[in-house]
Amino acid sequence: MRGEGTSKTASAKETVLTGLGVAPGIGIGVAYVREAGAIDAPEYEISAEQVEPECRRLRMAATAARRQIQRLQEKAQGIDGAAGEELGYLLDAYFHMLKDSRLVRGSDRRIREYHVNAEAAVHAEMKEIARQFAGMDDAYLAARVADVREVGNRLIRSLTRRGSASLADLPEDTLVVAEEVTPAEAAQLDPTRIRGIAAMVGGAEGHTAIMARALGMPAVLGVPGLLSHVRSGDTILVDGDAGRVVVNPGKRTLATFERRRRERLREARKLVRLKEKPAESRDGVTITLQANIELPIELRLLPDSGAQGIGLLRSEFQFMNRRDVPGEDEQYESLMQVVAAMGDRPVTVRTLDVGGEKTSAALMGEYSDSAGSALGLRGIRLSLARTDLLETQFRAILRAAVAGNVRVLLPMVTTVSEIRKAREVLKRAHADLRRRGVDLPDDLPPLGVMIEVPGAALAADALARAADFFAVGSNDLTMYTLAIDRGDEQVAALYDSLHPAVLRLIQFSAAAAGRAGIPVSICGEMAGDPRYAALLLGLGFRDLSMVPPSIPRVKQRIREMDLAAAARRADLIMGQVDSGRIATLLDDFNGLA
Ligand code: PEP
Ligand code: MG
Repeated sequence: MRGEGTSKTASAKETVLTGLGVAPGIGIGVAYVREAGAIDAPEYEISAEQVEPECRRLRMAATAARRQIQRLQEKAQGIDGAAGEELGYLLDAYFHMLKDSRLVRGSDRRIREYHVNAEAAVHAEMKEIARQFAGMDDAYLAARVADVREVGNRLIRSLTRRGSASLADLPEDTLVVAEEVTPAEAAQLDPTRIRGIAAMVGGAEGHTAIMARALGMPAVLGVPGLLSHVRSGDTILVDGDAGRVVVNPGKRTLATFERRRRERLREARKLVRLKEKPAESRDGVTITLQANIELPIELRLLPDSGAQGIGLLRSEFQFMNRRDVPGEDEQYESLMQVVAAMGDRPVTVRTLDVGGEKTSAALMGEYSDSAGSALGLRGIRLSLARTDLLETQFRAILRAAVAGNVRVLLPMVTTVSEIRKAREVLKRAHADLRRRGVDLPDDLPPLGVMIEVPGAALAADALARAADFFAVGSNDLTMYTLAIDRGDEQVAALYDSLHPAVLRLIQFSAAAAGRAGIPVSICGEMAGDPRYAALLLGLGFRDLSMVPPSIPRVKQRIREMDLAAAARRADLIMGQVDSGRIATLLDDFNGLA
């Protein structure tokens, strides 16, 4: 939740600010404050004769900026891991924006129409694009405004030949403080030197937040008033768990947080030792714990987590941060990295789930109004509107399936006919590949559905007849059941997966899978919270999928749990009408009350 408050301690200087904790952990460092504000560029009118030379100057500046991006691309190739990959995508998008985009074309037009210098034209065009995007009230497009500004400012710097302070070479133990940290900048931060990020702008779903999580860098975004409370050189602390920023922390605060930080490290080291141990309850029931991942690059997190497979591969991340859609070969190669790394362990590949806050620039151009809405052309609906894309994705999945144990999962399904239509496309892709003489699995891989819409949960018995397995998505299920946007911090306190309505839908879905004899797992964020493990296992789930760092904690909880007792507690909980009471009953069972 957003808010702002100051609390004075003995030193009378300590200031506590609150924002959104978007990447967990505690970071303590020396503030490097990157001042806010656009680049101060000269603006003036030009004569009619100067128009052509000015347009040429704009083109040359764009070429110079592209060259700069190319140099950054070369550097990015040397960065390992998710950071390198994310940065590569972004720089690619920036490169194309500098080549032929509304920003460059619009600036050219402004020079010709209004007879203004190139800097003024770029600045005005940038403002106009930002105004239009901001009016669209869409988290993804709001994040794109930052990209337009980044490229526009780069262009203006190139015109004025002014450099910008890079965040890449900051000294050790720095904590970055800014009005906004762009995703490209976040990807440049060296996690071994930089202690964290605090920024006034940004939400939990933006790419900066994703990058911070990928880098394991504590981050608090959306902090009102941040820049008026902190100066470069101040000691600063970000608490990504609680969404707190403490400027000039007093001795006692520092000691408290330092203790917590060490405890976290100790606990993480202890939990890693669990990786070889089974997730077996005290009364001898073994639970499968799998990982949710977005990019093949995240595979490096898996060995320490002890994941028994990939329960959810969110394929849409391959479609983000680029202006085109990946082709069959590219998708196949990316999938193969995951499938090969997992050996015979299962890999559940979810088909494209763009729409809402996750989107692809290429598809947004085509379906922006509908795909941008949480109730629009999302997930399977978009895939069935563009069966060419779905077929391409299925071909890539089928080719990868030869090498491992692959399952296919459809997002946002609400009707049986969607499953049937998707299965037809899957068969078509299989037949097409067979005609091409491609090496293929004999049987089609299991085709399952996400249960993440209330209507799907209520129709679970019918869907179970058409689907080979269920994966319950508690994130969207909670959002749609309670009509609360999961990405809106203003209603975050109302978002509650323990609401009896949500729990009944989850229980009904698991029971429907049981009646139909098909496997069921749960892969929403609930599955990764150890507090909920007893309830989910008590409701009958035996397969949980979560972000890799959560696996050891959930495993630890399962190993100390008696499943028969958990089932009794789940029974008691399902008779309740109030989520507060449910939380208390759970805490009590977990020994936390
Ligand atoms: C969910 O909705 O619970 C889910 C797992 O899918 P995503 O978070 O990708 O929407
Ligand atoms: Mg979902």
